[in-house]
Amino acid sequence: MKIAIAGGGIGGLTLALLCHRHGIEAEVWEASETLRPLGVGINLLPHAVRILSELGLRDALAEIAIETSSLSYYNKRGQRIWHEPRGLAAGYDWPQFSIHRGEFQMLLHRTVVERLGADAVHTGHSFETVLDSGARGQARFALRRRTDNAEVQASADVLVGADGIHSAVRRHFYPTGDLPRFSRRLLWRAVTEAPPYLDGRSMFMAGHQDQKFVAYPISEPLRRQGRSLVNWIAELRVPDSFPDTPPRSDWNKQVDKAVFRAAFADWQWDWIDIPALIDGAEAIYEFPMVDKDPLPRWTFDRVTLLGDAAHPMYPIGSNGSAQAILDARYLVDSLLGTPDTGYALREYEAERLPRTAGIVLRNRMNGPEQVMQLAEERAPQGFADIGQVIPHAELEAISQRYKQLAGFDRQSMQGSR
Ligand SMILES: Cc1cc2nc3c(=O)[nH]c(=O)nc-3n(C[C@H](O)[C@H](O)[C@H](O)COP(=O)(O)OP(=O)(O)OC[C@H]3O[C@@H](n4cnc5c(N)ncnc54)[C@H](O)[C@@H]3O)c2cc1C
Repeated sequence: MKIAIAGGGIGGLTLALLCHRHGIEAEVWEASETLRPLGVGINLLPHAVRILSELGLRDALAEIAIETSSLSYYNKRGQRIWHEPRGLAAGYDWPQFSIHRGEFQMLLHRTVVERLGADAVHTGHSFETVLDSGARGQARFALRRRTDNAEVQASADVLVGADGIHSAVRRHFYPTGDLPRFSRRLLWRAVTEAPPYLDGRSMFMAGHQDQKFVAYPISEPLRRQGRSLVNWIAELRVPDSFPDTPPRSDWNKQVDKAVFRAAFADWQWDWIDIPALIDGAEAIYEFPMVDKDPLPRWTFDRVTLLGDAAHPMYPIGSNGSAQAILDARYLVDSLLGTPDTGYALREYEAERLPRTAGIVLRNRMNGPEQVMQLAEERAPQGFADIGQVIPHAELEAISQRYKQLAGFDRQSMQGSR
């Protein structure tokens, strides 16, 4: 059986490695001419790290990524609302890694080339359209070759659209109406080399749903030198005068810090200096916080969707990459479980579509970050004792429910394979 994968991002490359591990032939068609380490930080949660560990990547990840020790939420005055250990520190068998997205993608790409051969990744080929969805067997599709703009046609037993938030495979099946939903919040993403804060492995978020700052270190080599490469995201709600249509979500759009810096000018506390982090960044990327409504179906004969192509979600709960990796795992499991390929694709969808739809919808309600919004609503001037504002049990329930929804609560990870 041969699987063609449109998109050599996090989900597509992981799928190629999983296919190879289980004796399924895979090839990747990637639009970019050369894969470059693009993006800033992402988090790999323990359930995704388990899958990557099965692929033999845990040591390589530990060399470059930070093993995240804790996650804390603060209000806009830097007062702590909630703190929890993460990964190994929380008793999981697998760490949570905070990592540079581009370095992670390059690691996956190198590993695919080593294991599947260089011919398995066709860079510079942009997927254009499905020619035949494969009702009677093979899926056929057309791509555009960057070098000479020629159309290239290819076929496979299964075509997987792993081509990200602007998926052309998805657009083929949903040509109209499937528009990005704008949260009316903009994100500014960057990395800054800085002295470590807290223990040098901690992730934190401060603020509330209309103004937030998120940070976590992402470089183990720098940590070993006593420094931190801090990945950070500043978020603000746009003014009412801002159009309802979001600006195009371009991961590489650079802007000046002047666009948002003033809003965070006094966010300096004894354990972190946020204006200094903002000032220390070399490049700042703007991205609208967008998602899309969950789809009624992902699978059409021998074609299906995966990762952001299937379920773009707000970057809340640090889940986007993990869910793409989980999709890949379930897809391969389903294909291995039955000789009926069409059935396997529908089974994959039946498992993954409702789960990821639940995360998309819960992220619209702030996901686990709702604790920050509750603190803002109930105690906008701050608090002396968070227990008087939000009882511990309420905080714990919000954290635990989200882990269950996203599939990384300890109990269900121990219970599953
Ligand atoms: C350049 C870039 C930078 C990013 N930076 C961040 C970040 O800083 N923080 C964050 O949280 N998330 C970032 N993301 C998104 C993050 O990687 C995904 O949300 C998540 O990992 C899910 O992965 P995915 O494989 O579904 O999508 P992605 O990792 O986005 O991968 C999609 C891949 O498909 C390719 N592609 C797109 N269109 C076509 C086409 N027509 N034909 C063939 N290939 C195509 C893209 O070039 C890309 O390699 C970034 C994505 C990209 C592409």
